[in-house]
Amino acid sequence: MAVADDSSEYLEIGMTATHSLEYWTAQAASLTIRNQAFIDGRYVDARSGQTYDCVSPIDGRSLARVAQCDSNDVERAVKAARNAFEAGVWSDTAPVHRKKVLVRLAQLIEEHAEELALLETLDMGKPISDSLNVDVAATLRCIAWNGEVIDKWYAEIAPTGPDELGLVTREPLGVVAAIVPWNFPLLMASWKLGPALATGNSVILKPSEKSPLTAIRLAELAIAAGIPEGVLNVLPGFGKEAGEPLAAHMDVDGLVFTGSTAIGKHLMGIAGTTNMKRAFMECGGKSPNIVFPDAPNLDTAAEAAATGVFYNQGEVCTAASRLLVHKSIRDDFLDRVVAAGQTMKPGNPLDPATRMGAIVDQPQIDRVTGYIDKAMQEGARLKCGGSRVLEETGGYYVEPTIFDRVSPDMSIASEEIFGPVLSCIDFETDAEALAVANNSPYGLAAAVWTSDITRAHTMARKLRAGSVWVNYYDGGDMTAPFGGFKQSGNGRDKSIHALEKYTEIKAIWINLAP
Ligand code: NAD
Ligand code: MN
Repeated sequence: MAVADDSSEYLEIGMTATHSLEYWTAQAASLTIRNQAFIDGRYVDARSGQTYDCVSPIDGRSLARVAQCDSNDVERAVKAARNAFEAGVWSDTAPVHRKKVLVRLAQLIEEHAEELALLETLDMGKPISDSLNVDVAATLRCIAWNGEVIDKWYAEIAPTGPDELGLVTREPLGVVAAIVPWNFPLLMASWKLGPALATGNSVILKPSEKSPLTAIRLAELAIAAGIPEGVLNVLPGFGKEAGEPLAAHMDVDGLVFTGSTAIGKHLMGIAGTTNMKRAFMECGGKSPNIVFPDAPNLDTAAEAAATGVFYNQGEVCTAASRLLVHKSIRDDFLDRVVAAGQTMKPGNPLDPATRMGAIVDQPQIDRVTGYIDKAMQEGARLKCGGSRVLEETGGYYVEPTIFDRVSPDMSIASEEIFGPVLSCIDFETDAEALAVANNSPYGLAAAVWTSDITRAHTMARKLRAGSVWVNYYDGGDMTAPFGGFKQSGNGRDKSIHALEKYTEIKAIWINLAP
């Protein structure tokens, strides 16, 4: 998984715990859930007193009433963030200090790994094994990595003539608003928080209304780790009410977003018409996974084609949602993908054996089943799945669904579904595969399966995507940038390149011949 990273290498984490369903169910029953906003170092209600129902997609039951923040709370949080920034309690500290604090935060995340994983699973429905081994593990690696890099990131001296000295330095932006989605709630937040905090900014985090619980909990871990009051604020609430006033605020210097392309475009517009705050968007995708007959191992490719789109219930920005298969192997290969997909039947997310959990909420399951209906109307052929299941639980579950005979102009082949639905398209030539793959407003990721080194490199070079994988799917690590071409976004998360987004670059000139 691009989002998973090689977390196993990091810290001594007991992340392979094999607790039972009974264990997790009991833990869930006795869990204390924080439900307030976090402003200036303490938990507070929304000023309006409003709360909303946080529903678990596992069974449709309410987990908590969560503070529903609006522009008044945005005002308070921006003030707190600005004050902390101006006071220099974080922004003016030595990088080695910020490193120490962020590494401590990573350790606290590790110590609370089970609690955070459980909150994530209850809140958005992903399997508990993934919450623990992927989301929480990659989150702590991200926070630690950003801490560790910051006292190793050097400024530059411009190669000028002898009579002057040009120092090229970097400074934090100031107050950064981070608006994040629900599919990897904690991890997407950490991709912003890691570099934003490491570079010395104050941050206001707006989690998705669908998955606020881990962000709320993280705020007090940050304080415990030594992040000063006001430097990290968390505002739960809805996009229009809490997100938009943040995006429009004249005293917010940076706006970083992960979410849909529609909202990303909207927010860039707001940034442009207010104070020209730096705006970086990580948005949607419709990623092509291209299988040639000379793939090194067709079973491996078929397994990856299934997990690439069904992992996290298909709620992944890099989901391998378009499978492009060479005509000569199409039927045989699809049979193998179907077999692999059918091993991912949805089940109780609290069961460690479950590989596919619940869809985040009712509107999202309506969206997914709506696309399934549309695919049938448009003439695609259903190979497996296609139905909502486990309705007796009160939760939201859909079977892994595969369509073939999909043509590139059908809705399921061109629009992001964000659910467990695979569209199979066949091709005959390399040029045709490339043309179909690139014919999309998105450009987040792509994969190619081939043993031919020339074909692999040629495709990798010509695919218009921010990540290209050869002979696997969803590779990634903190050490490499992640993000999109075209309408999949701008800027990059992860790696040293992400640090650049959170800083202004400054040229300081010294006259050496005064
Ligand atoms: P979304 O755009 O609906 O919401 C994302 C966030 O924006 C949420 O916090 C939401 O409350 C907020 N928001 C909504 N309307 C707003 C407004 N008018 N003003 C300010 N904020 C607003 O997306 P989602 O459904 O939460 O997430 C799914 C999308 O995220 C998919 O398109 C997926 O591809 C994308 N995604 C991208 C990446 C990536 O790195 N490229 C990673 C994960 C998810
Ligand atoms: Mn939820």
